[in-house]
Amino acid sequence: MDLKQLKIIVTGASSGMGAHFARRLAEAGAQVAAGDIDAAGLEALPAGVHRRRLDVSDEQDGANFVAWADRTMGGLNGLINNAGILRDGLLVKKDRQSGQIRKLARADWDAVIAVNLTGATLMAREVAARMLETDTRPGVIVNISSISRHGNRGQSNYTAAKAALAANTLTWARELGPSGIRVAAVAPGMVETPMTRGMNQKARDAAIERIPAGRIGLPEDIWLAVKFALECDYFTSRTVDVDGGLSF
Ligand code: NAP
Repeated sequence: MDLKQLKIIVTGASSGMGAHFARRLAEAGAQVAAGDIDAAGLEALPAGVHRRRLDVSDEQDGANFVAWADRTMGGLNGLINNAGILRDGLLVKKDRQSGQIRKLARADWDAVIAVNLTGATLMAREVAARMLETDTRPGVIVNISSISRHGNRGQSNYTAAKAALAANTLTWARELGPSGIRVAAVAPGMVETPMTRGMNQKARDAAIERIPAGRIGLPEDIWLAVKFALECDYFTSRTVDVDGGLSF
């Protein structure tokens, strides 16, 4: 699809990759409805980008956002399902000194699943429902997964959510393909954003050393794959890893 024809929602658009995608889309002439739980952060987006606070894990809020985006842009034919959070922790850990067992907090499991999986699913559902209701085709949904979908130490919750999102990319592509809606996913490796800037410096440096491309990824690297997924009408169902060759 030509980017100029897009009327597209970007979630998690206040920061990092979401903000970059919204900016690039606006520059390319797309209409963009940007949402984020951090409403203040949306202010930094360029003029012309429509913006509104959005909590993807809140079913009603997501439905209201989609209706607003459709009204505001005079239609809706795209979604970048990008909002995400981290709450890392080992499944269980034994403290060497005290012998105490620490367990992954249930609240951390629930929080990551609520945003990264349930939230992304609810947004895809609402956007697809709106496209079917209005007979909009072609339509496109791009899910932002992660290479952690293959499994990664300390990320049970995140891995579960991102793997399920990649699997459902295929499920939704099969369900929605006959209605002219493509669903694809991009799975970034380690990308320079506020999410990774919060990492322990030693772990961050060690991970960067293992990247065959020789550097951490930039939002622009991921945008190139997202742009491909939006533009290529023959790309659907699949999740593409964009990770500089890093594997966990
Ligand atoms: P980021 O800079 O933290 O941006 C994520 C944005 O999503 C933040 O503005 C965040 O707001 C927002 N958000 C959190 N919960 C939300 C909710 N319930 N509803 C709406 N918005 C919400 O992270 P990023 O690195 O750009 O990540 C973007 C996506 O790429 C995420 O899905 C992430 O899992 C994925 N990813 C990132 C990397 C990486 O290395 N950076 C690698 C693989 C995949 P707050 O800041 O207020 O929480």
